[in-house]
Amino acid sequence: MTTVLAYDPFNLQHTYYGHPENSGRLAGTWARLQADGILARLRRVESQPAAIEAITAVHSAEYVAALEQMAARGGGRVDPDTYVVGATWQASLLAAGGLLAVVDSVLNGKADNGFALVRPPGHHARPHTGMGFCLLGNVAITARHAQKTHGLERVLIVDFDVHHGNGTQEMFWDDPSVLVFNTHQFPYYPGSGSLDETGAGPGQGYTVNLPLPPGVGDEGYLAAFQQVLAPVARRFQPELILLSAGYDAHWMDPLAQERLSVTGYAALVEEVMGLAEELCGGRLVTTLEGGYNLDVLPHCVLTTLRTLSEDPAGVSDPFGPAPGQEADISELLAAARRVHGLGDSRNR
Ligand SMILES: [Zn+2]
Repeated sequence: MTTVLAYDPFNLQHTYYGHPENSGRLAGTWARLQADGILARLRRVESQPAAIEAITAVHSAEYVAALEQMAARGGGRVDPDTYVVGATWQASLLAAGGLLAVVDSVLNGKADNGFALVRPPGHHARPHTGMGFCLLGNVAITARHAQKTHGLERVLIVDFDVHHGNGTQEMFWDDPSVLVFNTHQFPYYPGSGSLDETGAGPGQGYTVNLPLPPGVGDEGYLAAFQQVLAPVARRFQPELILLSAGYDAHWMDPLAQERLSVTGYAALVEEVMGLAEELCGGRLVTTLEGGYNLDVLPHCVLTTLRTLSEDPAGVSDPFGPAPGQEADISELLAAARRVHGLGDSRNR
């Protein structure tokens, strides 16, 4: 496997002391990757700032101009949680641009799959405003780019961040060409993502939400991917899979109450890789969303990169599994299969 990686240290300049979404997330992760030696086995790709036309394919021109102006004035807030500093505009362009560079590599056949190690994250950013630590919808921008520039018809977005990817969902709500699959703690920030949010108009059925109770761990998440994501993906037949990789569903994350381990995350990535191999020539492009435990996040990213590149070193999980029993979600999965017309059988 050739795995391509985008990382630009300029992304460290978007930071705010004391905020959970700070530059330490990337700095610590990068240090871990350097210490491991995996970087020598990955192909690197240069991040270029995303073109404005790529961004305005999913965001309003008014919002994009307002964000640029806020950064030029030295910063501010687009919502109470979401800071902008002077470097934010350029960092946001490079975050989206890093993901675009990875997807170009994969779709041009220069790599099998890839990872964009970028921030600020993107999946809460809405068409007309940033939200929830997110400024530009990196994954949404990239899905549209894959369609407009590479001529793809169907793109699948998988989002396993612990928060609902409301921004990504909103951008493709009535669009049957981009299927958005979300697992997230519920009810929880940002409040959306219930089972009956399934899209509208021609996009009806192309939004799939699995609102999880707190306490779901490796077994429940994998069952969700095998029993709901896999049949939905096979029915949709994507030409590319984009993975919004938030690592805040780890059991040690300070912001949420799910119970995935690093090993459990690796199993999810493997499941998505298997679907990519089966359905779209292995074309899987992953990007960082959340993940706020600064000890855990570097191991999650390292393990994802090892999984994508089939590195024999395997999982790096010094934290082990969550203690205690995980929540049973078999009823929820059965309900999701009914809502999405996947039949009652729990067999794959
Ligand atoms: Zn999150």
